[in-house]
Amino acid sequence: MGLQSVCRICRREGMKLYLKGTRCETEKCAFERRGYAPGQHGQKRKKDTEYGLQLREKQKVKRIYGVLEKQFRRYFDIASRQKGVTGENLLQILEKRLDNTTYRLGFAESRRQARQVVRHGMIQVNGKKVDIPSYSLKAGDKVSISEGFKANVGVKRSLEMLQKRGVPEWLEVDTTALAGTFKKVPSKEEIALPVQEQLIVELYSK
Ligand code: SF4
Repeated sequence: MGLQSVCRICRREGMKLYLKGTRCETEKCAFERRGYAPGQHGQKRKKDTEYGLQLREKQKVKRIYGVLEKQFRRYFDIASRQKGVTGENLLQILEKRLDNTTYRLGFAESRRQARQVVRHGMIQVNGKKVDIPSYSLKAGDKVSISEGFKANVGVKRSLEMLQKRGVPEWLEVDTTALAGTFKKVPSKEEIALPVQEQLIVELYSK
């Protein structure tokens, strides 16, 4: 998917999903310039069906976290077998991904970039290189930039962006040591994303 088409996703969803890193914070953001759905020329969207709403919510969450359908479905199956509320379980599984945490800690500008950062072997978990973006973190895990990449310019720029968006409560980061901790699995309230995960549960429960 090209860079331009990523912005189409925000416009279609009617909200900024911060998929492009630095650009999202500037006036170049396509949503700031044209906040209506692509191809609609500012007209009011037709009323969505219940199924349509559920489907769009699923697409939105998949796009925010950059997960493909097959894996997303697998996460849902795991979430539905766990204790507790399936929708919240699903968001927690997504939040535990190493690429997501790499982004949240400010070591990458976007989740998409974080996947590359992890794949390039720039990230260590508890002192050992882990290059699998979907790696699932546990409470107490330490996530850090590998020694050889600490001077990386991209990482410095990403950390500047972190100052604007802040570090979520369930994480802790030392921006000098370039090391962080996944303190605990966050609750849905802490995750604070504009998503209605219950719609996804309804969709898959049909
Ligand atoms: Fe594009 Fe703006 Fe969405 Fe970022 S927030 S991906 S710049 S439309």
